[in-house]
Amino acid sequence: MNKILLHSCCAPCSAAVLEWLLNNNFVPTLFYYNPNIFPKEEYEKRKNELTRHALRLDVEVIDGDYNHEEWLSTVKGLEHLPERSIRCEKCFEIRLNKTAEKTAQLHISQFATTLSSSRWKDLAQISDAGNKAAVKYDNVSFFDRNWRKDGLQQRRNELMKENNFYNQIYCGCEFSVR
Ligand code: SF4
Repeated sequence: MNKILLHSCCAPCSAAVLEWLLNNNFVPTLFYYNPNIFPKEEYEKRKNELTRHALRLDVEVIDGDYNHEEWLSTVKGLEHLPERSIRCEKCFEIRLNKTAEKTAQLHISQFATTLSSSRWKDLAQISDAGNKAAVKYDNVSFFDRNWRKDGLQQRRNELMKENNFYNQIYCGCEFSVR
């Protein structure tokens, strides 16, 4: 059995990944660390939906801090840029750096992220952020996967319907609200 810390952004992006991990001899723990999400009500809504699903599967969820002000200061000057820009690169770095740190604290040897299950995001940016975060810690590696492949995109859609997940209509930060 392989322990893994799975950084999770929301239930729709996490369900198929979680199912795959459980079916492939992994023991996942979820890490909900998303200080990018605005407003706080939306942050709580996504967290509660994820927690509700994890409880059903008997998977532990670790609740990360929510410091949106700090997140805003890190992306200062990049507010006007579109999605997939350097602002998103920074956003991934913030979240995956914290995930790598938590992985090391828990003495787990690997982490992954559900961010790479969204077709709206740039996989290379996520891969880069994950790998750079991992090298900061001894004995921690990034389980770098494209979660859109091998039928997982279709499975994601099926699980969304089956579980009637709350499905957000924007990425997360205030600059992604159209
Ligand atoms: S659009 Fe999404 S990935 Fe990009 S900065 Fe905003 S929340 Fe982060």
